[in-house]
Amino acid sequence: NQQFILKSRPHGAPTQENLSVETTQLPALAEDEVLLRTIYLSLDPYMRGRMSDAKSYADPVEVGDVMVGATVCQVEKSQNSEFTQGEWVLAYTGWQQYAISNGEGLMKLGESPSNPSYALGIMGMPGFTAYMGLLDIGAPKEGETVVVAAATGPVGATVGQIAKIKGCKIVGVAGGTEKCKYAVEKLGFDACIDHNADDFAEQLSKACDKGIDVYYENVGGKVFDAVLPLLNTAARVPLCGLVSQYNATELPQGPDRMGALMGHILTKRIKMQGFIIFDDYGHRYDEFATDMQKWLSEGKIHYREHLIEGFENTLDAFNDMIAGKNFGKTVVQVNQP
Ligand code: NDP
Repeated sequence: NQQFILKSRPHGAPTQENLSVETTQLPALAEDEVLLRTIYLSLDPYMRGRMSDAKSYADPVEVGDVMVGATVCQVEKSQNSEFTQGEWVLAYTGWQQYAISNGEGLMKLGESPSNPSYALGIMGMPGFTAYMGLLDIGAPKEGETVVVAAATGPVGATVGQIAKIKGCKIVGVAGGTEKCKYAVEKLGFDACIDHNADDFAEQLSKACDKGIDVYYENVGGKVFDAVLPLLNTAARVPLCGLVSQYNATELPQGPDRMGALMGHILTKRIKMQGFIIFDDYGHRYDEFATDMQKWLSEGKIHYREHLIEGFENTLDAFNDMIAGKNFGKTVVQVNQP
């Protein structure tokens, strides 16, 4: 069984010294246990936080442990009467090819689900995050302008499409012309601005000619700097993630902008609220699942995966995702079904 083990805590982007592949022997199955074969491993930005021991909402992975993560697995062998060989489950077995479980916390996906990997994306944590953050905190009203960055990723793309369903004008921010074109042509965004452009802030301001009512914050950094002066009175900012900072090793350069930020929040009566999806909204998953299933079946939501073949490529794929080289939800195909 091959596993990515956290050997040391990264400074900046994680390297092979921080996370290395080790091969271990799987123990024999005890009574009530199942052997899970990882088919898909989800790679998500929050994992960078788990590699660090900085104080956070969740405990870090201990040095010497397998890196954590959500997976979609097939039951390879079962000594547990509740699980049969071949069935699919959503699990949290991390960066490894196989895992042994006593069945606790496994979510059944059936014998032959049509899109098993969707449980890691559009029907799972990222889709749910987009839905709750936008609708509960963003509370978008018809005709309002919603802005979201990482616009072609699983969270951003879903935020934009739900905002469109709710009758909003939606302006995306993404890295590169190909992603921006996709956001407009395939996802139905009204505009999408490339954050690498020299005149990015100017382009964003032009696209948001009536200001911004909801800014769904995924990235922070220069995107937030460009958004702040455009926020309208009573704007809402669901604070979902700050991926531009996850590998940061020092504070950003330039003058301290905290005073300007607080001033804007005060005078424009802006509501900014952070949230951690399962901690805050776990009890509302069914509400999301019902709506999302309906929208998918009606063709109102498009979903794109960035599938990486080969378990050995997991670390590179993780770093590529944080750096924006993914195009859609990053999933590693660890084993074939
Ligand atoms: P993505 O698959 O969209 O990957 C991250 C994307 O961020 C990259 O593809 C890149 O897109 C963009 N990005 C990276 N660096 C920068 C930068 N400096 N400036 C602008 N954009 C940048 O990720 P997810 O959809 O899975 O997650 C999106 C956000 O949601 C993350 O911040 C994540 O932590 C957060 N999240 C929060 C949860 C919660 O409970 N609060 C739960 C789930 C996710 P591009 O090339 O387009 O710039």
